[in-house]
Amino acid sequence: ANGAHVPALVIGTGYGGSVAALRLAQAGVDVHMIEMGMAWDTPGSDGKIFCNTREPDYRSYWLRTRTKAPLNYFLGFPIDRDIPRYTGILDAEDFSGITVYQGRGVGGGSLVNGGMAVTPKRENFASVLPSVNADEMYATYYPRANAGLGVGTIDPAWFDSTACYQYSRVGRKHAQRSGFPFVFVPDVYDWDYMKQEAAGTVTKSALAGEILYGNNHGKKSLQRTYLAQARATGRVTISALHQVTSVAPAGGGRYTVVIDQLNTTGDTTTTKTVTADRVFFAAGSVGTSKLLVKLRATGALPALNGEVGKGWGDNGNVMCGRANHLWDPTGSLQSTIPCSGIDNWAAGGAFAEVAPLPTGIETWASFYLSITNNTHRAQFSWNASTGKVDLNWQLAWKQPSIDMAKTIFDKINAKEGTIYRTDLFGIYKIWGDHLTYHPLGGAVLNKATDNYGRLAGYPGLYVIDGALIPGNTTVNPFVTITALAERNIEKIIATDL
Ligand code: FAD
Repeated sequence: ANGAHVPALVIGTGYGGSVAALRLAQAGVDVHMIEMGMAWDTPGSDGKIFCNTREPDYRSYWLRTRTKAPLNYFLGFPIDRDIPRYTGILDAEDFSGITVYQGRGVGGGSLVNGGMAVTPKRENFASVLPSVNADEMYATYYPRANAGLGVGTIDPAWFDSTACYQYSRVGRKHAQRSGFPFVFVPDVYDWDYMKQEAAGTVTKSALAGEILYGNNHGKKSLQRTYLAQARATGRVTISALHQVTSVAPAGGGRYTVVIDQLNTTGDTTTTKTVTADRVFFAAGSVGTSKLLVKLRATGALPALNGEVGKGWGDNGNVMCGRANHLWDPTGSLQSTIPCSGIDNWAAGGAFAEVAPLPTGIETWASFYLSITNNTHRAQFSWNASTGKVDLNWQLAWKQPSIDMAKTIFDKINAKEGTIYRTDLFGIYKIWGDHLTYHPLGGAVLNKATDNYGRLAGYPGLYVIDGALIPGNTTVNPFVTITALAERNIEKIIATDL
């Protein structure tokens, strides 16, 4: 409520925020979480909370009047459609050189993502978080994060027989024939539930095209894991459709936090001011960076250091499809949950997920999201004339990612006698190089903050999300975001409270 005081305020309800809230509550601290997106706990008139990828409706996009699907063409035809402006679940946030996809709602990115829960290889960790003790991470915090998230791996025998992973088996065959290691990738989807979907005994979700705009069943989003546990402590409250716009010192070691309450068309209905002893920035890489850069430039937090806004990367994301021969169908029924990848990181700087194309019809396409070792880093800056935060990423900076992905797919195409698809991202366009699903950095650990996320210059202010990670995790990022948050909050609880 307006004028209230809270011991701990958490901005955002994604991975970092959920870990912070749970561990603070378990330590006896009352926590209030502020989330700009919706609660996503109430079914629409069709009886479902979330819509699927084939029929995106008002629930699909954050304040857009037309969908902006990551794969925006099919067979050379644009597939986007008009929708009513609504506080939907997926934000396709446009910067000058890149569109950054993010989840909006209680659970953050866990609502919209593929659930691929990957721990980086130990030998790559020093490049991911150079100032963090790897032994502690692999002995304690990665296992804690994997347990808290409910990570599991597909039953290999079922994988070999089920129709819904024909596309992955084709991916495996092609990878192995070209000599690339094929790996199963863990996921937070409930694999037993998916087996029952395939058997026709439960309501379908992964097998009904649900992903990107939410999964109605099967996926263990944060709502079902960390946030459920946090709520069960009785110490955590969450305000959805509330957006933090300012944090500034209030005297007495406290902070004043200004919050806009939004309606479902995105207008501010009320502005509230609360005070907090501690504020955790967990608005995601982009959300946290935008807030901090604005607050430094506009005088609310002028002592934030020059590293704030720097070190942003796209985790090297690039997408492509390959056209298979007619004797290599990938299946009309495709699970939306990827379960496998092709690992060419050491030799070629690329780790490619074998991704679904859950159109419901046979496409003879293999589709991949590659994570590559792209070293370009962009910076957020305050634009006083527009009153917005800009990001200086350039479209051309994806070229190294394309080159690294080609170390896998040029070789597979040569071996198989196949070609790239040119009809998925435009007309005669091979590479999905205009986007990322994996924003990282902007308030980098041990640079913008100390080695545990404490913001320089402001005792009681912390960063605890993907903004801490300097641009690349070598694999999908949320397990690392969660594990780092577990490490940092343990230290903060032990020494700062
Ligand atoms: P987020 O999860 O982004 O949470 C931040 C929250 O803060 C959001 O809910 C946001 O609405 C809220 N917020 C922002 N600003 C404010 C504000 N001012 N006031 C109040 N609230 C605010 N990663 C994987 O590891 N595996 C995958 O398979 C995978 N697939 C993905 C697929 C898609 C389509 C997308 C978009 C992402 C995917 N990711 C995947 C990435 C993963 O979801 C993110 O890395 C992760 O969610 C980031 O966690 P976070 O805690 O940093 O922030």
